Amino acid sequence: PIKTRFAPSPTGYLHVGGARTALYSWLFSKHLAGEFVLRIEDTDLERSTPEAIEAIMDGMHWLNLAWDEGPYFQTKRFDRYNQVIDEMLAEGTAYRCYCSTERLDEMRNAQIEAKQKARYDGRCLVHGHEHSPDQPHVVRFKNPTQGSVIFNDLIRGPIEISNQELDDLIIRRTDGSPTYNFCVVVDDFDMGITHVIRGEDHINNTPRQINILKAIGADIPAYAHVSMILGDDGKKLSKRHGAVSVMQYRDEGFLPEALLNYLVRLGWAHGDQEVFSVEEMISLFTLDAVSKSASAFNTEKLLWLNQHYITHLPPEQVAVHLNWHINQMGYNLENGPTLIELINLLGERCKTLKEMAQDAHYFYQEFEEFEENAAQKNLKEAAILPLEVLLAKFQTLESWTTPLIHEAIKTTADELALGMGKVGMPLRVAITGGGQSPAIDATATLIGKERVVKRIARAIE
Ligand code: GLU
Repeated sequence: PIKTRFAPSPTGYLHVGGARTALYSWLFSKHLAGEFVLRIEDTDLERSTPEAIEAIMDGMHWLNLAWDEGPYFQTKRFDRYNQVIDEMLAEGTAYRCYCSTERLDEMRNAQIEAKQKARYDGRCLVHGHEHSPDQPHVVRFKNPTQGSVIFNDLIRGPIEISNQELDDLIIRRTDGSPTYNFCVVVDDFDMGITHVIRGEDHINNTPRQINILKAIGADIPAYAHVSMILGDDGKKLSKRHGAVSVMQYRDEGFLPEALLNYLVRLGWAHGDQEVFSVEEMISLFTLDAVSKSASAFNTEKLLWLNQHYITHLPPEQVAVHLNWHINQMGYNLENGPTLIELINLLGERCKTLKEMAQDAHYFYQEFEEFEENAAQKNLKEAAILPLEVLLAKFQTLESWTTPLIHEAIKTTADELALGMGKVGMPLRVAITGGGQSPAIDATATLIGKERVVKRIARAIE
């Protein structure tokens, strides 16, 4: 059975690079009806925080990337790591190293001076037994000295590294704690991971991990290293480029569907198709269509996709997310239109849900003042008569529907021999406070008769 994992280090929020790696791992396993594991790599006690663990899981939940197994926590598995180290010591695939920091520094400096690669010289492999295990020591992996490690990266193709290049890696520190690369190996083995899909920043770890896996008699998983994401200036994506945390995209009004679609296309292609439902992603995703080169983040395209999903997803689905933004704005939904009505009216005009929630203020709240420019242009002397005539018609409307409201605006314009705009614009400013809104008849319908009447009266006071 296929099994992939996402293994974040909880030192910060879930950023878009991590989210894309998680998405690719998730899609790969779902495509092959496999399983997806979440593993929290929290061995760096100084930098790992419970807040970051929560933020990562929140991000995964929001994106709807569900894990089938886990979350596992490396800090809860120290006994197991130490058990494997003890077995390796017994088998001779690892050894204790008693070299002092001074000796290691001297060795390294001499190597650097001689223009050699700095690496442990293996002294304790020969002389270690002269010490007692009670003395402070680290445990090193006995890396093969001959041959090379070859693996076929599913994105990059065959990669070969000579064992000469690889040091005898420390797998347990003097304080008894296992090191990062070692924990990953034991986890991938114990959890039955068949495909390791991760960022290219880990590519140098792979040969070391493969050697350790071989030493403990594990099957070697397949590896795929995903390229970096760059900002639009060609530099590695970072906070300088604006939002990088997945939850920040939620706050900015993006739909998870749009972000997922954006992320899958950032480094993966299926012909020239741009829009993919999650079901389509699952059925079409393969690693051989993932790009070897870095991808540049393009906010315009993300906005375009977001707008697409706002207008194409079932409104009930958009409503779930819009609701969050409505609450953020502090509106009381009972004071105005339903979420579905809002989406139907404003969807076409808004690239984000945040924008939609902001634009919707006049449906739920009274505004203090008219926007200065809009009022200057549309609420002067010339507007009073049309608004008065319109107000009278509104008050006697049989029912408060868009066609009847439209009719009232039109007959007002006709009677006063004015263009529709000379009635519609003053009405717009009077009832929304500003010069921009969707079609004014439909907008007036949703604002409601009572409020429209009150607001017109206030505007012509
Ligand atoms: N914990 C590593 C990271 O967050 C990932 C390690 C891996 O996928 O093997 O970069």
